[in-house]
Amino acid sequence: MYKHAKNILDDLLRRLSALRPVKVQSEPPTDYGASAFEAKESRTGSQSLVDALPDAALVLDDRAAIIAVNAATHGLFHRVFVGEHIGRTARQPELTAAVKTTLATGQQSVFVLTVRTPTERHLDCAVSKLTGFGEGQSAPALLVVLQDISEREALARMRMEFVANASHELRTPLAALSGFIETLNGPAKDDPTARDRFLRIMGEQAQRMTRLIDDLLLLSRVEMKAHLTPTTTADLNHVAAEAVRLSASQAELESVTLTTVLDHGPTKFPGDHDELMQAVQNLLENAIKYGRPKGTVSVRTVRERDRRGASLIRLSVTDDGPGIAAEHLPRLTERFYRVSTAASRQKGGTGLGLAIVKHIAARHRGRVEVQSTPGQGSTFSLVFPVSDAR
Ligand code: ADP
Repeated sequence: MYKHAKNILDDLLRRLSALRPVKVQSEPPTDYGASAFEAKESRTGSQSLVDALPDAALVLDDRAAIIAVNAATHGLFHRVFVGEHIGRTARQPELTAAVKTTLATGQQSVFVLTVRTPTERHLDCAVSKLTGFGEGQSAPALLVVLQDISEREALARMRMEFVANASHELRTPLAALSGFIETLNGPAKDDPTARDRFLRIMGEQAQRMTRLIDDLLLLSRVEMKAHLTPTTTADLNHVAAEAVRLSASQAELESVTLTTVLDHGPTKFPGDHDELMQAVQNLLENAIKYGRPKGTVSVRTVRERDRRGASLIRLSVTDDGPGIAAEHLPRLTERFYRVSTAASRQKGGTGLGLAIVKHIAARHRGRVEVQSTPGQGSTFSLVFPVSDAR
């Protein structure tokens, strides 16, 4: 974890040696005493050094007063002043103690510092002794480097949660399959009725695992392409029409009526047809399975302008089902988030459909919008920026 800070430090120590202030042989300017002149040189050298660093960094003298500080440090602490003692200015007892220890022992101190204001941040912190710069007030004696690792930690936490969730989702059908295999080998061995029923359930559980693995693979494929802008052109009207056609049999099974209203204008934009098809099919599948039984699902494309006048194209899927309570709306596109886990599982859901839709939209520089009023249905929209050329 500290490797990055350590590499930076080693690099810094090398640069500092090169920056060592040159002893002035000639007469210093009249308004500086010799030591004041050297102090000014050290300060300028220290300042250019911390300014060259990507992370927050400070140079302190042997009394722990700040000689130089870079802009990144100001974002981490409420107030940091050159000339002030580090303990007074940064107000982090752990950091002050580490500075004291390194000054006394010459040993590097490496630790994680938690700063709570202005916002909570986790900092990978390294305090190192500098040698060869002279001694006393304003001579560089310590280098403090603080690397903000909050985002890296949050990402690692997200990844761990995702793996835990995915494993849990897979383990449930797997446990059911193992249970049935045991029962079929034991108590239900000679019971043909039980065997047929169990085999049917086992088939469903195996299908559930397959769906989950397919969605996990799809999600990772879409994520891997996140930074690649589509190089082909897609027509949103074609996508809408084809997705509706492919969802017709699912709609028929649920006695749901599908309607389509397509924009007259050109609806082409830079896009990946297959990915957009996947996104729209996911929205249609949800609208049919969570909407009103024997209800209506409408697909619409429309060109519009945002508040700043930029051209957009919108594809919306509207159902007349029970709708979704407002508190769930902001979280619907999170992986494995469901309003009702039981309802989703019973309908063959994996909890990944909308996360896939969100990633596909993002890759096309677009977004997913959800509007829903409980009791009145839901509208899921994909909104993409398009050029004005018609
Ligand atoms: P799932 O595989 O569970 O359907 P999704 O990511 O596609 O996963 O959807 C997440 C959740 O959002 C669903 O479990 C469901 O609770 C809710 N949801 C999605 N679409 C609709 C809809 N049209 N009407 C009501 N709820 C919906």
